[in-house]
Amino acid sequence: MSDKDISFRDRPINMDEKGGRKWVYAKKPKGKWYTRRTIFSIFVLLFFIGAPFIKINGHPFILLDIASRKFIIFGAIFWAQDTFILALLMLSFVLFIVLFTVTFGRLWCGWACPQTIFLEMVFRKIEYLIEGDYKKQYKLNSGPWTTEKIIKKLIKHTVFIFISIAMTNTFLLWFIGPEKWWVMVNEPLSKHLSGFLIMLAVSGVFYWIYSFFREQICTMVCPYGRMQGVLLDSKSVIVTYDYKRGEPRGAKGEGDCIDCRQCVAVCPTGIDIRNGTQLECINCSACVDQCNSVMRTVKKPEGLIRFDSEEGIKHGHTTIWNARNKAYSVVLLILFSFFVYTLLTRPAIETTILRTPGLLYQVNADSTISNVYNIKIINKTHDKIPLEIRLLSHKGVIKMAGNSMDVKDQSMFESTFILFISRAELKSDNTEVEFGIYSNGELIETYKTSFVSP
Ligand code: SF4
Ligand code: SF4
Repeated sequence: MSDKDISFRDRPINMDEKGGRKWVYAKKPKGKWYTRRTIFSIFVLLFFIGAPFIKINGHPFILLDIASRKFIIFGAIFWAQDTFILALLMLSFVLFIVLFTVTFGRLWCGWACPQTIFLEMVFRKIEYLIEGDYKKQYKLNSGPWTTEKIIKKLIKHTVFIFISIAMTNTFLLWFIGPEKWWVMVNEPLSKHLSGFLIMLAVSGVFYWIYSFFREQICTMVCPYGRMQGVLLDSKSVIVTYDYKRGEPRGAKGEGDCIDCRQCVAVCPTGIDIRNGTQLECINCSACVDQCNSVMRTVKKPEGLIRFDSEEGIKHGHTTIWNARNKAYSVVLLILFSFFVYTLLTRPAIETTILRTPGLLYQVNADSTISNVYNIKIINKTHDKIPLEIRLLSHKGVIKMAGNSMDVKDQSMFESTFILFISRAELKSDNTEVEFGIYSNGELIETYKTSFVSP
């Protein structure tokens, strides 16, 4: 390979010699993979927009309520106290991503990542519609500011701003739910001024990303892209160029590649896949479609660029399984099974009883000692639960502030109570006491804490 051939290694493809931005004008993709990707992206977009509206028995399907530290994921409620279960879920998810990447490379990036879906399937499509394909865009951008250019840019950026605001608000629905959002937008702006300004700022960031920063998120910012070097191996199935078949390239060469550079023209990150696996490749498959179309034109078999592994190119079709992804699959199965088990067997309520800070004990005239406690009960179910607290370990009397201990669904009950125990019952100045939480006469949880006395 000549020095000229490896110049792509010197700097990111979208950067010039002086470090300035080189705008990527990507040709509009066309072909079966692009159609499949468009259909898949419609489902992803529908899920993104529709998930916060889905209810199961009147309860949200997804709600990431950070303010109340309550998360509803696929209908299951997680509280801050469920950190362990959430950590298991996160670990399973990370391991799944690792397993998926080892096996199929950066497929997530090109097909399911919201950044790519919005850029390629929403913003880029609108751009093609208003400004035309890549050559027209280049001509428009490099030409003078004519009336046509001003109008096209004005329309495009107005639509982009509108979509960015819509995106931010859809994003917001995941965190506050549609009902709360609706109340907020109908209330006076002054009541939610800081929230409104944050919404505008986030919309501004989205607009800047999709209008100007674009593919640099995938090629320079995203940490997942950087992990490819350690996750991929020779059996990973990725978008790859069949160099055995394609080289030597050129119109008169012996290889099938006619060096038309159409695969480069269509690439949204601007790379040449013929240079081998590169960090910038998001496995979008646009070059697969484009090269297949070229191969059809020159009457050669399709698949010069295809989904395959290094092993597949070298030795023909081989299995996608290797020691690494087999091991990851076993660990993932164990971890996920443990998560499901923990989720299914977690108690319906979570109780915390602590002595009120700053108070010790009180000696009463009737020969009893009393301690004051703060009680917190989280109801993790979708039903209202009537509760009752009893002292299991000793004979004593509990006087609760307020009458009812009915805990609403997915809510937290907080109160204070006083526990009276006769002096004769106490053997030391710090006694362990055990409470039982009952619902309809059935013991559903126990809780141990301390009782102090003289
Ligand atoms: S599109 Fe296919 S034939 Fe054209 S340069 Fe790329 S690999 Fe070669
Ligand atoms: S090289 Fe091909 S698959 Fe990779 S990003 Fe470019 S067009 Fe998409």
